[in-house]
Amino acid sequence: MNKQDQPLIFELSTQGRIGFSLPEMDVDALALEEILPADYIRSVEAELPEVSELDIMRHYTALSNRNHGVDSGFYPLGSCTMKYNPKINENIARFNGFAHIHPLQEESTIQGALELMYDLQEHLIEITGMDEVTLQPAAGAHGEWTGLMMIRAFHEANGDTARTKVIVPDSAHGTNPASATVAGFETITVKSNENGLVDLEDLRRVVGPDTAALMLTNPNTLGLFEENILEMAEIVHQAGGKLYYDGANLNAVLSKARPGDMGFDVVHLNLHKTFTGPHGGGGPGSGPVGVKADLIPFLPKPIVTKEDGVFTLDYNRPQSIGRVKPFYGNFGINVRAYTYIRSMGPDGLKAVTENAVLNANYMMRKLAHYYDLPFDRHCKHEFVLSGKRQKKLGVRTLDIAKRLLDFGYHPPTIYFPLNVEECIMIEPTETESKETLDAFIDAMIQIAKEAEENPEIVQEAPHTTVIKRLDETLAARKPVLRYQKDN
Ligand SMILES: *Cc1c(COP(=O)(O)O)cnc(C)c1O
Repeated sequence: MNKQDQPLIFELSTQGRIGFSLPEMDVDALALEEILPADYIRSVEAELPEVSELDIMRHYTALSNRNHGVDSGFYPLGSCTMKYNPKINENIARFNGFAHIHPLQEESTIQGALELMYDLQEHLIEITGMDEVTLQPAAGAHGEWTGLMMIRAFHEANGDTARTKVIVPDSAHGTNPASATVAGFETITVKSNENGLVDLEDLRRVVGPDTAALMLTNPNTLGLFEENILEMAEIVHQAGGKLYYDGANLNAVLSKARPGDMGFDVVHLNLHKTFTGPHGGGGPGSGPVGVKADLIPFLPKPIVTKEDGVFTLDYNRPQSIGRVKPFYGNFGINVRAYTYIRSMGPDGLKAVTENAVLNANYMMRKLAHYYDLPFDRHCKHEFVLSGKRQKKLGVRTLDIAKRLLDFGYHPPTIYFPLNVEECIMIEPTETESKETLDAFIDAMIQIAKEAEENPEIVQEAPHTTVIKRLDETLAARKPVLRYQKDN
């Protein structure tokens, strides 16, 4: 069946058809009024489609085929690390001893789960070069906020209450200034120089006795390594501030360089990016935070500790910022990340970084003939192009992204970071084959040619999807909740 012709679930509805089978009731049913307050009872029955179990199964399967996912196609979404999530992670996370335990169980009955968390903490400490790790935060942004709250508690414990500002580069991920604001800080922007790196002069200008922290991603969101990081760390530390590392994407430094060795005091990781927890659709994710020794007292409680071979949850932490997540974080994602780390081993993790960086550079060099390359130097795990040349032909970056849908690709990140005009940000990841990379490169080259020879085909894309261009803001704010026959 043609994708466009797929009937809506409401069109499949046949009066009286049901999708479940239950035994006859052998007790008297309660009246609704006995269960719910009158205000909550419908006066008109809900208009729901009436379909069989098979109808609904096929309906959702067909819908899922319209979706883009890493398991169905290449997904070069810059700054998101949409890599393949090995299925062994799922097998292990479904073990009864992991999936069917309860967080309120006696510690003596969940030693295995606690050991896994402890071990994962140890691995992350080793990977990041930090001194202690919490697994509680549920996402990257949540980790950022947790880390900043610890920095805040640290300064307050030192009576250093004038430190109200967090410095973020103009290329920062949007969550950085947002987390700083939610943690009660004012954000100050530091400029990038013409090489796409933090401008040291500007950093010296904005750093001062009111600096609580500098938040940085390294490599930054342009995919470039901040080669002056040691000097930057010194500038910030000398002024009494802390260094926060946004380690959402560790693909470019994993087993090669450690935030702790670069001078960072706090780091969060996205286990749902670098460490192959599935992500998208809002989670569940996991954003562990690592800290250097002087911040350990402020970690969220509890943390998993080990004494005489027994694992326990340590609540006795008087200076802790408190709990940031019910129970101990998204345990299932932590199991997946642990499985990944153990199944890859140190050499495997090193190969991840080498191949992620190689794939990004390969693609960047191939595409640089057809699109503008704002920063002509080696990239790390991702790179940015600019659609400036195409814009002169009347084709915008948005059009290019939409046209990629016709080739079956999820579009890359666009118009981010903000400091690059008509930005296209591509992260191929290490899990893609050369054949896949080449096919995507060919599609991008064809689109560049179309922009020159036949711009309408790009301007009017996508041509093959069920719905063409949405008003994305309106779609997010006013989702269509109900089928209306007339539109
Ligand atoms: C994805 C990402 C984040 C945010 O992580 P979430 O889990 O989506 O909250 C923060 N910083 C960078 C650099 C990222 O790529």
